[in-house]
Amino acid sequence: MPDPKFLKPWHGISREEIKWNPAIDVDACIGCGTCVTGCSRLVYRYDYEKRKPVVVDPLNCMVGCTTCSNTCPTHAIHFPSISTIFALEAKPGVHHSIEDELIARQEQLAFAESIPHPDRVLNMKVAEMNTINNRTIIIKLTPVLPGDCFCQFIPGQYVEIIPPGGKWLPRAYSIGNAPQTDGSIELQIRHTEEGRLSNWLFKELIKGDILQVRGPRGGFTMKSSPDKALIFVAGGTGFAPVKALIEQQLLLDKTRRIELYWGVASAEDLYETETLIRWKNVAPNFNCILAIDHGNLPVLPEGILVYPGRLANVISDNSKGLPETDAYVAGPPVMMPGIMQTLMNKGIGSENIHVDSFGL
Ligand SMILES: Cc1cc2nc3c(=O)[nH]c(=O)nc-3n(C[C@H](O)[C@H](O)[C@H](O)COP(=O)(O)OP(=O)(O)OC[C@H]3O[C@@H](n4cnc5c(N)ncnc54)[C@H](O)[C@@H]3O)c2cc1C
Ligand code: SF4
Ligand code: SF4
Repeated sequence: MPDPKFLKPWHGISREEIKWNPAIDVDACIGCGTCVTGCSRLVYRYDYEKRKPVVVDPLNCMVGCTTCSNTCPTHAIHFPSISTIFALEAKPGVHHSIEDELIARQEQLAFAESIPHPDRVLNMKVAEMNTINNRTIIIKLTPVLPGDCFCQFIPGQYVEIIPPGGKWLPRAYSIGNAPQTDGSIELQIRHTEEGRLSNWLFKELIKGDILQVRGPRGGFTMKSSPDKALIFVAGGTGFAPVKALIEQQLLLDKTRRIELYWGVASAEDLYETETLIRWKNVAPNFNCILAIDHGNLPVLPEGILVYPGRLANVISDNSKGLPETDAYVAGPPVMMPGIMQTLMNKGIGSENIHVDSFGL
């Protein structure tokens, strides 16, 4: 009989619905008993006659645990692929249930010795709000108190928006500009289906509102020596930190060799094309290629190339591949493996690829 205390739902999903338990390859098993005695949840019993373990209470097994498999000397224990668990974690309900539990159990779970992070919490006003389409908004935030700013941030860093009333955990948004004298910052925000904060921002936020913003944070900053060519790769709103980094580079050296690849889902998701044209006009060695995943291609001024297809394929087909190039990649996690592989195929070492992944 499964133990009721191990049968409680896993982040809102009933335990019975989750196929996660060990299976034993009896031919490979030498009957050492490590799994039987090592599992504190009594998933196994030991058959003393046959000298083999038996999985008796599979539902007692902790979702995601593989300890017995790791400690089996003959690799006789198998589990479903860990991607089963990652697929569950990607469900909004699971993600939100974990977030709710973190908030509810803060007293118990908070790391007591944490020292305050040396960043700041500022009240910032929504000075401008530009709705690109129902999937992307760009907001400009200015400090409520003049002089109160994130002036010390390094291009490529992000801030966190603290949700109203602190009902959810803060969310990160990359700053889409190099430091400004008025302390303002631009955020480019993509709507996430069933996402808590982005839904709130899209539905509730209006010009003039005050947001609590914490930062600056993050290490996606320029790490390359000035002689190196740079390739920037942005997926969707991954353009925000890339834009900040390119602005910084063009302020320092307009002749630097810079290639930008920016991929969006459809032509309607493009924005700030005037910024690309401005860069193209002032920087002789700046080149820009856009990838449109589906739908019609936009008509853009001469010099800005645009191709249909996946960002990784467009890079693969068009980039010449320079081993002496450093890469900076920002955007949603789903695009990262393909882009990394493409850049490495082009001869860029993994140590020279810097990544800003917008999630887990
Ligand atoms: C460093 C950094 C910079 C970022 N910069 C930007 C930016 O400039 N612009 C921008 O639009 N976004 C950016 N993001 C993403 C942003 O922080 C939020 O994650 C995003 O806006 C969604 O928040 P939400 O509250 O709307 O969604 P949530 O309610 O948090 O839900 C997120 C969605 O993603 C899924 N999800 C959540 N957690 C996991 C997980 N652990 N595994 C798998 N799936 C999961 C959920 O199922 C849900 O569908 C950045 C993230 C990071 C880490
Ligand atoms: S994976 Fe962990 S919980 Fe499951 S049977 Fe093995 S040791 Fe026990
Ligand atoms: S740890 Fe491996 S070899 Fe030992 S009893 Fe368990 S399954 Fe068999």
